[in-house]
Amino acid sequence: MPTYATMKSATRGTSMDARELENITLISRSIWSEKTQAIRSAQSALAGSILSKAISDEKVLVQTARGLLQQANQSVKPVVAQEHLNAPFFRLFAEERFLLVALHRARWSYRRLSEVLEETQTRIQEIAWNARIFLAQHQISSQPKKRLLHPTASTHCDVSCPEFIIQRPWPQRFLDDEMAHQERLFILSRLEKCPGCREVLQRCKAVYYAANAGLPDSSVESISGEPFDALKEVWARADRIRNPWQVSFYESLKRFFSKRDVQLATILLLILLLQFEF
Ligand SMILES: [Zn+2]
Repeated sequence: MPTYATMKSATRGTSMDARELENITLISRSIWSEKTQAIRSAQSALAGSILSKAISDEKVLVQTARGLLQQANQSVKPVVAQEHLNAPFFRLFAEERFLLVALHRARWSYRRLSEVLEETQTRIQEIAWNARIFLAQHQISSQPKKRLLHPTASTHCDVSCPEFIIQRPWPQRFLDDEMAHQERLFILSRLEKCPGCREVLQRCKAVYYAANAGLPDSSVESISGEPFDALKEVWARADRIRNPWQVSFYESLKRFFSKRDVQLATILLLILLLQFEF
């Protein structure tokens, strides 16, 4: 039996990277502080995105992330458990937590994030920088005799240096690996020549890495286990239905109903099956 990681679509030539399923779990855990709820939410958002007839894996990821945020915003019970409110990370808005984990852990692009949040890429950079400053401040102030030097433009820079915009400084795009080749070359040459640019980069790096240290545990152990396997199952089953040429429809149904541990997936996929034209 092929695994979800090895299955490839015969026509599209792509498959959902196993890593992306881990990313979805990590992102869900950034929104819901409680693990079981995070996994449940990820399962239903993933299944929901497939039901919405999103075709490409890219669309599935975008829809799943949107679904997770919608669930959080519409939830009647608290998204963050009382005992987790002490962590500065969980004092950020769900959208900000999503953004930081998606950038630092999942390495999702500004383009994808702008699709998920329906904001411009400029705005994505501003929200991310603001959240990073917040987290970095808490992280650094918790250490004795340390304080955060707010990144500002350097007086050593001149007109030939990259423009410094305080709400979204250029080093953020550099560190997020969001610069096109030409721009990256330009920045590298300025870093070589200008002490001001190096100073600006250093200060922004301090924010970037302090924010990174303030993110919740992202080890594989923290997201693995039975619930995560159930999420993989949702994907594998759904992928077979999306790409029915891989395995006969009857076969996929038979395998699907032979499992008992994916009840949620069963219900959601049943709805999908009912929409099929026999
Ligand atoms: Zn400079």
